[in-house]
Amino acid sequence: MADRVLIAGGGIGGLATALGLAQKGVRSLVLEKAAQLGEIGAGIQLGPNAFHAFDYLGVGDAARKMAVYVDSLRLMDAIEGREITRIPLDDAFRARFGNPYAVVHRGDLHGVFLQACRDHDLIELRTSAAVAEYDQAGDKVTAILADGERIDGTLLIGADGLWSNIRKQMLGDGAPRVSGHTTYRSVISVDDMPEDLRWNAATLWAGPKCHIVHYPLQGWKSFNLVVTYHNDAPEPVAGKPVTHDEVRRGFEHVAPVARQVIDKGKDWKLWVLCDRDPVMTWVDGRVALLGDAAHPMLQYFAQGACMAMEDAVALAHCVEKGGLGNDVLTRYQDMRRLRTARVQLQSREIGQHVYHPAGAHAELRNAVMRARGPEEWYDQIDWLYGSTGLEGAVSYETRQH
Ligand SMILES: Cc1cc2nc3c(=O)[nH]c(=O)nc-3n(C[C@H](O)[C@H](O)[C@H](O)COP(=O)(O)OP(=O)(O)OC[C@H]3O[C@@H](n4cnc5c(N)ncnc54)[C@H](O)[C@@H]3O)c2cc1C
Repeated sequence: MADRVLIAGGGIGGLATALGLAQKGVRSLVLEKAAQLGEIGAGIQLGPNAFHAFDYLGVGDAARKMAVYVDSLRLMDAIEGREITRIPLDDAFRARFGNPYAVVHRGDLHGVFLQACRDHDLIELRTSAAVAEYDQAGDKVTAILADGERIDGTLLIGADGLWSNIRKQMLGDGAPRVSGHTTYRSVISVDDMPEDLRWNAATLWAGPKCHIVHYPLQGWKSFNLVVTYHNDAPEPVAGKPVTHDEVRRGFEHVAPVARQVIDKGKDWKLWVLCDRDPVMTWVDGRVALLGDAAHPMLQYFAQGACMAMEDAVALAHCVEKGGLGNDVLTRYQDMRRLRTARVQLQSREIGQHVYHPAGAHAELRNAVMRARGPEEWYDQIDWLYGSTGLEGAVSYETRQH
């Protein structure tokens, strides 16, 4: 059997992995459970670290064409109805972090990856192929599909998302943690967006136990709306259609200027957000986890997909250095685990201490954040945006010698 890496899951993480491996001359087979490869119709924010990954994976130009380049990240007080602070995303930001900050439609981004995978001889894509479990012996690993079919490979990467079957078998650590935070998403035409809020910014209105996010998408044809309510929802839910009234209910206390966003939303869908505590091991012999399967996080840093792409870059880098044998997966895991653990844990923190506080806590947040200038903001986020996701590799390799 020629070397071939099996990838469970054809989301952003799985396709990025296939592309990263193909860049290193490694063949892969992506096994996707769904009948069609695609993404939900919503927006996604991309830090400069995502662009480092695009370039490494060979899709930099195509991804840049899809993006809307916002001028700032704006934090607003949803009760006062006024700005707390803004982080400029101008030339100084780009010079500092080597790349822009942007927003993009998920379907467009997934489409960029999908086209690049389809165009590559070393990548095979299979749909309606749900990986139920795996088996490994000697120098091969076998993905066992839900219908019993067995497919052999040299390595298996579990990029099968939050409810990963590969993780279930590998770590057996139960269901993800239900955060009790409910997110509602809608995409509306730019003409439906209130005129006074048509800002070229990724905007977040922070209020007690809730926040509202909006930004333009698709060459300014539409706006992405994401509103989140900490309502202690007990059960995980993904993508359930809900009525307007249900969305409104959690936001009666916020200023009318922010609430109008909710009034304008259409076809709202609901997610009850889940994450997990970080783990320090996500490798079992010839099998490794990647993306949400390895380190699911709340979306409050807007970094889940960015981290999945960084994982793909790190794995490709390890394969380039060490081939498909020996400790390649452990090296990849070691390179990634602290950085992703930090994003997982700080995503929870930022929700609690920045997005959702009330009273004195909120006033203190406003005072501290209003006092910060752009350079101080850049210093605060340097660990995240200033990384290519490969620094871990460099320090890991330095430690080995
Ligand atoms: C409301 C919200 C907003 C977000 N905003 C951002 C943002 O702005 N920026 C950002 O970077 N991230 C954001 N994220 C996070 C981001 O969406 C995820 O981290 C990212 O999609 C993870 O990619 P993945 O490929 O690891 O997993 P997924 O996207 O979940 O892909 C997993 C794939 O595996 C398939 N699959 C599942 N089980 C099996 C199986 N048994 N066999 C085969 N295939 C299987 C699935 O069908 C799917 O195609 C947000 C998340 C949410 C919920």
